[in-house]
Amino acid sequence: MAEIRISLTEQQQVLKKAVYELCKLYPSEYWRELDEKRAYPEAFVQELTKAGYLAALIPEQYGGGGLGILEAGLILEEINRSGGNAAACHAQMYIMGTVLRHGSEEQKARYLPKIASGALRLQAFGVTEPNAGSDTTKLQTTAVRNGDTYVVNGQKIFISRVLQSDLMLLLARTTPLSEVRRRTEGLSVFLIDIRDLKGFSARPLRTMLNHHTNVLFFDNVAIPADSLIGEEGKGFAYILDGMNAERILIASESLGDGRWFIEKAVKYSKERVIFDKPIGANQGVQFPIAKAHMAVEAADLMRLKAAALFDAGEPCGAEANMAKYLTAEAAWEAANACLDCHGGYGFATEFDVERKFRESRLYKTAPINNNLVLAYVGQHVLGMPRSY
Ligand SMILES: Cc1cc2nc3c(=O)[nH]c(=O)nc-3n(C[C@H](O)[C@H](O)[C@H](O)COP(=O)(O)OP(=O)(O)OC[C@H]3O[C@@H](n4cnc5c(N)ncnc54)[C@H](O)[C@@H]3O)c2cc1C
Repeated sequence: MAEIRISLTEQQQVLKKAVYELCKLYPSEYWRELDEKRAYPEAFVQELTKAGYLAALIPEQYGGGGLGILEAGLILEEINRSGGNAAACHAQMYIMGTVLRHGSEEQKARYLPKIASGALRLQAFGVTEPNAGSDTTKLQTTAVRNGDTYVVNGQKIFISRVLQSDLMLLLARTTPLSEVRRRTEGLSVFLIDIRDLKGFSARPLRTMLNHHTNVLFFDNVAIPADSLIGEEGKGFAYILDGMNAERILIASESLGDGRWFIEKAVKYSKERVIFDKPIGANQGVQFPIAKAHMAVEAADLMRLKAAALFDAGEPCGAEANMAKYLTAEAAWEAANACLDCHGGYGFATEFDVERKFRESRLYKTAPINNNLVLAYVGQHVLGMPRSY
């Protein structure tokens, strides 16, 4: 049975502190300017890579840190707690599991050391399509075997960091839906090099936050057959396999956001004097912040439980999903308490509250909508009737 610790080890605390110190070199002004220009935090991502943090989950034999999901989560949490946005570089961590668990020795030896060193960047994960959102099994992008290549045709939407990546993990249908027994069959995962790929193009899609998201077009794109990860047709299971890691890492980012909002709100509520006293003395200001703090702390316990189970190799689907839901909701509660506490200044860009407000809101919707987490818990954990 996994041991669930509710306090961090000394090494974990050291790791947290070191990441936070690095983040202090990239203050709010840095993130604010990038947000305004919708630019990528290139210098920050390079420094994190150089320090080895983005390779935390890559085994030491391939040049990575060989750390657990909790440590990886703490790294992302500290980025968000410092006022930054780990979304710029989190995908490398959660995509890694699919390659590690299902990639061949040859694929791991070819890519992992270069990803760990920063020579190659794997930050793009191509799943969502215009006609297949939450229902992944309906995706229409096809990959058809042709000699020693697969020919890919289709369209993807909301695919982040494609223009900043060398590699992308792609999910495509290799057997038509009409020819499989179950709709989860016939999908395959490919690890592809997207530099100079003929017939492939990406069109940036501006969103309410700085997220480097794109619409992708595949027009008879030939990719090497050996870019297939694992067995053909089993891609959906491989992706699902990696979902628990993704949920725990995203939960950690939400915790970082929640803590940033609470710290910011507490400080401001003590400093801002209105009606001759600090606004934090008013229960209308104080209680929502206290409530949000409790929600963040409670959600952290579920994150710790999910991470402990994951790192012990035990089933953690329920806990990882619940952690993702609870942390996203807690961060959103903290975001609103912080915005309310700042009055009109919460809307002024130079206070950063409105930027973090937009950034933290994403995690109620993506990578999986909280409705779908509720459906998972209702149907798979509690055994109630299915809605899909
Ligand atoms: C900024 C951003 C970055 C993203 N980056 C990536 C990326 O890098 N790669 C990638 O593949 N995708 C990415 N996505 C896509 C994201 O994963 C999807 O938006 C998300 O999975 C939801 O899909 P959808 O938007 O098509 O919503 P839909 O599936 O159309 O759902 C719309 C609404 O209906 C609800 N709904 C649908 N079915 C049910 C049901 N059975 N029960 C209850 N409610 C239901 C949903 O919860 C949601 O509220 C990104 C999205 C955004 C906004």
